[in-house]
Amino acid sequence: MSRRRAEILAEMGLAPVWRLRREGSPPAVQSVAGAEVQGVPAHEEAVVPASSEARERRILSMDWQALKGKVADCTDCRLRATCKQTVFGVGDERAAWMLVGEAPGADEDRLGEPFVGQAGKLLDNMLAALGLARGGDVYIANVLKCRPPGNRNPQPDEVAQCAPYLLRQISLTQPKLIVAMGRFAAQTLLGTDASIASLRGRVHRYAGVPLVVTYHPAYLLRSLPDKAKAWADLRFAARTIAAAG
Ligand code: URA
Repeated sequence: MSRRRAEILAEMGLAPVWRLRREGSPPAVQSVAGAEVQGVPAHEEAVVPASSEARERRILSMDWQALKGKVADCTDCRLRATCKQTVFGVGDERAAWMLVGEAPGADEDRLGEPFVGQAGKLLDNMLAALGLARGGDVYIANVLKCRPPGNRNPQPDEVAQCAPYLLRQISLTQPKLIVAMGRFAAQTLLGTDASIASLRGRVHRYAGVPLVVTYHPAYLLRSLPDKAKAWADLRFAARTIAAAG
């Protein structure tokens, strides 16, 4: 990352962002605005080429309306050619809770909203048990805004193109807490290959925002015993938000 770019992001309280590293190197840890922040992963070096810095700078200065328009029109990676529509995010744009999933699936691709299939129903039920609802004090987004064909795993270059959108959603919302749901969101945001099991139960940070990790709702549909753990994670998240004041 160039010095200028780092300065811009630091001024916005957003660095480090998608600071990619060589496979095998330790997770990046930087001090930003007095907070220790874990950097973001990757098994690739420099997935964000220098030429994309202007694009990223533009995205990171957009308001909600401009950002929504940019995402809706985005053709900056191959995924837009195969998905039906982009899936921006949903909920309270000043929410305390920011929930981050992986990417739209078939239902989300059809309806244009995150987590509207079976996994979404489970998520809504868990939120309701906490007294929360999408559109209440919750904002829900994905790392990727377009459905990967056949729900395959997101590719590093797709993540690199889409990451600034999520980052801007976070900086506009200014949540008190991010909940990374599932291995992909957690590993992507925290720059680690560690398992969900090892990341649960403590407060991480992403771009200065406290972040907790839990299982993906789609995984919970297949693994009932871990539902109790996910419920414990959400209660831990609620306590973390309450402690933040
Ligand atoms: N899985 C995700 O990660 N996100 C969605 O929006 C739906 C399913």
